[in-house]
Amino acid sequence: MDLHALLKRQLKRLDIDPSAPPSAAGWSALLQRISRAYDEHDQESYLLERSQDLASQEMAALYATVRADRDQLDSRVRERTEALRLSEGRLSSLLSLSADWIWEQDAQLRFTYISEGMEAATGIAPSRLLGRHRMADGTLDASPESLAAYEACIEGRKAFRDFTYGITRVDGVRCYVRISGEPVFDEGGNFRGYRGVGRDVTATALAELKVHELACYDSLTGLPNRNMFLGELDRTIARARRQGREFAVCFIDLDRFKTVNDMLGHDAGDELLKMMAGRLRGVLRESDLVARLGGDEFVVLLEGGGSAADLSAVAQKMLAAIGQPLTLHGCVFDITCSIGVGVFPTDGEDAATLLKHADAAMYLAKERGKNTLQFYTAELADMAERQFAIESELRLALVRDELLLHFQPKIDIATGRMCSAEALVRWAHPQRGLVPPGDFIALAEERGLIVPIGRWVIQAACRQMRDWRRAGLAAPMVAVNLSARQFASDTLIDDLVGALSSHGIAPSQFEVELTESVLMADPERANQVLQQLHAMGIRISIDDFGTGYSSLSYLKRFPAQTVKIDRSFIRGLPEDKNDAAITQAVIAMAHSLGLAVVAEGVETHAQLQMLRLLGCDEAQGYLLGRPMPAADLALRLDPDTPVLPELVQTPQISVPAAHPRLQVHRGVVQRAEEVHGTTRGMRAID
Ligand code: C2E
Ligand code: MG
Ligand code: MG
Repeated sequence: MDLHALLKRQLKRLDIDPSAPPSAAGWSALLQRISRAYDEHDQESYLLERSQDLASQEMAALYATVRADRDQLDSRVRERTEALRLSEGRLSSLLSLSADWIWEQDAQLRFTYISEGMEAATGIAPSRLLGRHRMADGTLDASPESLAAYEACIEGRKAFRDFTYGITRVDGVRCYVRISGEPVFDEGGNFRGYRGVGRDVTATALAELKVHELACYDSLTGLPNRNMFLGELDRTIARARRQGREFAVCFIDLDRFKTVNDMLGHDAGDELLKMMAGRLRGVLRESDLVARLGGDEFVVLLEGGGSAADLSAVAQKMLAAIGQPLTLHGCVFDITCSIGVGVFPTDGEDAATLLKHADAAMYLAKERGKNTLQFYTAELADMAERQFAIESELRLALVRDELLLHFQPKIDIATGRMCSAEALVRWAHPQRGLVPPGDFIALAEERGLIVPIGRWVIQAACRQMRDWRRAGLAAPMVAVNLSARQFASDTLIDDLVGALSSHGIAPSQFEVELTESVLMADPERANQVLQQLHAMGIRISIDDFGTGYSSLSYLKRFPAQTVKIDRSFIRGLPEDKNDAAITQAVIAMAHSLGLAVVAEGVETHAQLQMLRLLGCDEAQGYLLGRPMPAADLALRLDPDTPVLPELVQTPQISVPAAHPRLQVHRGVVQRAEEVHGTTRGMRAID
């Protein structure tokens, strides 16, 4: 019998012969062993099943954990994706709303992406730039400094901010953009390109350009203005110094420009300045700088050295061009100019000195008869030095109390009595003695010293009136002269109010004298100030009448009460027919406009008698009293005695027949016989 080897072994262990039937004991032992074997088998299967069960439970738990982790991950991915989607949406909606755009460039700095914003803002299609460099089309322009800074950042692979440049669109329109960008590097630190933002700044850039233009160019003539000229002069000086070269500055001032301006008005004056600017530009080379410094002053910068003869030749060309007759408002004018030349470095090593010296040379050219050219010379250097010395001394004069007033009476021609006195300033110079105002007023005006001097004069005049009064004298009305700058000063009204009130002087006792040119410098403002003075009760007198604009009907716009005929017209009386006619005409015209007339510079009896015949109201001059110290005038302040009794005598002189249709000045034409019967009573306006 073929038995399983294991069974064979068991039978052998039990001493049972497999080929013979077993004994009962053997059979029983066998059955027991078989039963035990089943038990053991049951036990093993149980253990196996149990361990399988446990393993599967563990597996299930593990699986549950893994699934939970996966679900969590899934939901996080979903959340993140949603957040990203929202953020992208936000970015793109913001981008579409904003005027800015995004750009990206690769490592070769070629555009790889430009967002829509650029086309919307600038009208430049991204396709024009994609795959190309920023500077590719050559229309980019930026200031050399900002371009250099931008290029330095790019080369250094650094971030840059607010690089602004101009670019021309296909349709030729210029626009300006401002970009910022930063480099992009990969994980390995390799440069991958740039990305950044852009913005259209055309409106701002154009406004900035406009501001620059206004700051640098004269709006009337379009020429560079003083600012720009001074900047250019500094640069030219630096260049010339480096290269050891010379150059010249020509200071040009139009002669008699004021006459045209006063006669024909500011519009015609402006027209004339434009024409002159064009003429100057026309005779010079492109490289020569022509600028307008202001008013009728121009300046030319001639680079490239050249001999005095060469400079003269250029200046002669300018003189000739300006001197061409020109027609304005149907009148032909011969306007000329005076030119002063300063050469760098001989006549000045810095801009201020060079310009000052060219200006001084120009003044000498004017003095030497205008329409001429003058180089800066040693003689001028002396003069300038003297002026400088006077200026510094004049500043001290106020502090040292060296100014004083003299008073010159104005006499009522009919009664011979003093009706008022004009305060005239003098400077008691410690070395030079009594300096007349003619020697320092213009300088004070030019150097900005006239306002404090004028303030001193007003104070001193009021103080003097108070002192006369305190001394029991009948203080006359006092007139002070106001110069242009003083009249334009913001403090004038306050100065007057302060001086009058602190000395208890009634404004009606105070008069101001202004020349026509002071009024005509800015008629609008002049009128405003005069109206204020008038409202305060201060009297207003037009000084030196006949030397400027000379239209009384025009001057009547201002609330003046008196006209002073300039002494140059009185000088020729009574013989000079022209002067007589002018004086007659002015008196008649002034009276018809309700103005009183004072004749200045009356030196002879004959002049005075004639003025009385012509109906002139008051006279002032050496005959009636020189400007004198206050103490001398005090002696003449007796209200009961006429100053010069002989003046009341009946004159023996007759009025000469003036040219019946003599044209005096524009708008002032009078016939002698019309004037003859004029009396002082005719002051009401017709
Ligand atoms: P102005 O206001 O026309 O003053 C009259 C000038 O004529 C005075 O000269 C006076 O001395 C002079 N004069 C008076 N009568 C005669 C005469 O019969 N014959 C001649 N040949 N001259 C006569 P002055 O004092 O030298 O003043 C000159 C100018 O200086 C004044 O002209 C005025 O424009 C200015 N000035 C004087 N004082 C002041 C002042 O306080 N402030 C300002 N801004 N200017 C002043
Ligand atoms: Mg005066
Ligand atoms: Mg005068």
